[in-house]
Amino acid sequence: MPPKRDYYEILGVSKSASADEIKKSYRNLARKYHPDVNKESGSTEKFKEINEAYQVLSDPNKRSQYDYFGAAGGPGMGGAGGFSGFDFGKGFQGFEGFGEFGDLFDIFMGGQRGARRASRERGSDLRFDLKITLEEAAKGVEKELEIVHSVSCQTCKGTGAKPGTTPIKCSHCGGTGQIRKSQQTILGSFTQVVPCPTCRGTGETISSPCPTCRGEGREKKRHIVKVKIPAGIDSGYRLRISGAGDAGYKGGSPGDLYVFIFVQDHPLFNREGDHLYYRTKISFIQAILGDEIKIPTLDGEASLKIPAGTQPNTNFKLKGKGLPSLDHHERGHLFILVEVEIPSRVTKGQEDLLKKFRNA
Ligand SMILES: [Zn+2]
Ligand SMILES: [Zn+2]
Repeated sequence: MPPKRDYYEILGVSKSASADEIKKSYRNLARKYHPDVNKESGSTEKFKEINEAYQVLSDPNKRSQYDYFGAAGGPGMGGAGGFSGFDFGKGFQGFEGFGEFGDLFDIFMGGQRGARRASRERGSDLRFDLKITLEEAAKGVEKELEIVHSVSCQTCKGTGAKPGTTPIKCSHCGGTGQIRKSQQTILGSFTQVVPCPTCRGTGETISSPCPTCRGEGREKKRHIVKVKIPAGIDSGYRLRISGAGDAGYKGGSPGDLYVFIFVQDHPLFNREGDHLYYRTKISFIQAILGDEIKIPTLDGEASLKIPAGTQPNTNFKLKGKGLPSLDHHERGHLFILVEVEIPSRVTKGQEDLLKKFRNA
């Protein structure tokens, strides 16, 4: 898989292009490369690429995520190659990449394109649960994840056949990798094309299996995957690293790695969205006379002015001392709830002063 080009470059617009400019450029290019119009080789790929770029850049959310993450394929895995980028989403309704559009496009093209390849077994998706601290969530962090996933077997180069031997044409499907299944229904009979169960869609069977992978074409390998966690992330988000899952079965595409984010509780702060909440106590003297106190924040101490005459349980706000929002447009605040402490015991001298105060 060739490395992905920059979406702005694909659409021929600058990084600061307006939504209108993007739309205009997309229309021109889509008209030029539409497979119904343009019969040159590679135009279909080009058309798909243009559409993929437009899907992202026309959506303000996806665009800002893309801008933030940089060119697709940023977080890659040393040496493994083939990662086509990543996206991220929240919970189970996250963006699922561009597969959806690709599927639509294949239907539009009559389902002929890539049918053979699609019938090969795709590798499994993998899940990695990653715990990070609140500080890491606030600043963003790069993590190295140690994962074990299956990769194409090096001994047989993924064919599954013992070196020196070659796979033979599958006799069940005649090497097409597909079989037709006819079914009678009340609406009439219909035929379905499904991957051949004997060769699992590869069109080939193996007489002498590779000793390393026992004919699977894949073996387990340990890898370090670098993943960039964006500042402002919260529990419930997941990052998808394309192609970092298990290798596909003999030429099938690899699965993805999903990194589920868990932000640990913090001893001082409660978090709600981009805002932080902190609780502190002052003396009744400080409440009456006013003071300046130190408040911990995620980036060091900050001063908070307590005005004279502050009432118990007053809320103060330190602007921008919360977390950045994921799209980096604004920052949350740090809210401070100030409790006033009444001493349960006073000295004789203090009692005399308070009595004087009462009678003043
Ligand atoms: Zn092998
Ligand atoms: Zn077969």
